Amino acid sequence: MITKKYISLAIDCYAVIKMAIDPVCNMEVDEATAKWKAEYKGKTYYFCAPGCKTAFEADPEKYLSGGGGHHH
Ligand SMILES: [Zn+2]
Repeated sequence: MITKKYISLAIDCYAVIKMAIDPVCNMEVDEATAKWKAEYKGKTYYFCAPGCKTAFEADPEKYLSGGGGHHH
């Protein structure tokens, strides 16, 4: 129905805006529900698991300089 279609479209929009990329494993993380975050150089990074957060904090530069998201 029309109402249903409208709602799913709104959710889609919301998801696109609020998704962050976990810099360690490049997974999409929902900023609203992310349990693990770290601040580095004034930017907030979101992680899918505590292990990713620990790895990032141990060596942030490795993850920020190494990956641009293109590995092909
Ligand atoms: Zn991760």
